[in-house]
Amino acid sequence: MLSIVGIGPGGYDDMTVRAVNAIKNADVITGYKLYVDLVRDLTGGKEVFCTEMRGEVERCKKAAEFAISGKNVALISSGDAGIYGMAGLVLKILEDHPEVETEVIPGVSACQSGGAVLGAPLVHDFAVISLSNLLTPWSLIEKRLEAAASADFVIVLYNPGSHKRKDYLSRACDIMLRHKSPETVCGLVKNISRDGETSSITTLERLKSTPVDMLTTVFVGNSQTTVINGKMVTPRGYRI
Ligand code: SAH
Repeated sequence: MLSIVGIGPGGYDDMTVRAVNAIKNADVITGYKLYVDLVRDLTGGKEVFCTEMRGEVERCKKAAEFAISGKNVALISSGDAGIYGMAGLVLKILEDHPEVETEVIPGVSACQSGGAVLGAPLVHDFAVISLSNLLTPWSLIEKRLEAAASADFVIVLYNPGSHKRKDYLSRACDIMLRHKSPETVCGLVKNISRDGETSSITTLERLKSTPVDMLTTVFVGNSQTTVINGKMVTPRGYRI
């Protein structure tokens, strides 16, 4: 059995009971080192196979090998394994092994946990876009930003920047500013549910020059999003 486990944003309290049980029941744990470290308390005495960042293919192939050999494997992904996670890759790698039983265990994704830190920014239609162009051409990312901004979606940005991609958020803001007001309410959450969690609320104009890293998730409101008692809130339209 191969369990593809979304462990949520980081803290044990934000994991599902199903994810905890899958890790407890596994013979082997595989995952990116940082995420395996987050669940260390649950993996005592088990075989652990970690890879560093960018080791996704190696990690998934190894998880598949363990499962083919008859072991109970938990492949760990942060947040939800089906949202920019390992689920698609490992299911593809196992394409020719239908005998291996698989299950995808959902986890709390950064848009949900980060949204909860900020307040209630996702109460209306939203789009999630990753600014990482490692596997997606930048031209397609721009097209999706333009489409989502022109349709007045709340937009959640994953992978908003790294030391190599310093200006991506600023470029994304320029595209969104073609359709959204500079005063659009935006939020940033860093290290959600981990040591050093921080959050802030700003405007789209100011977001353009705000430093971000790979551990930040960015929220760009729609035209109705407001700040209520320090919380970022997108109304649904109820009359009160
Ligand atoms: N599968 C993950 C997303 C992986 S993509 C999920 O469902 O949450 C990696 C991006 O997710 C990061 O660059 C960041 O934008 C966001 N992210 C994941 N975990 C985070 C956390 N604990 N705090 C802030 N952002 C996080």
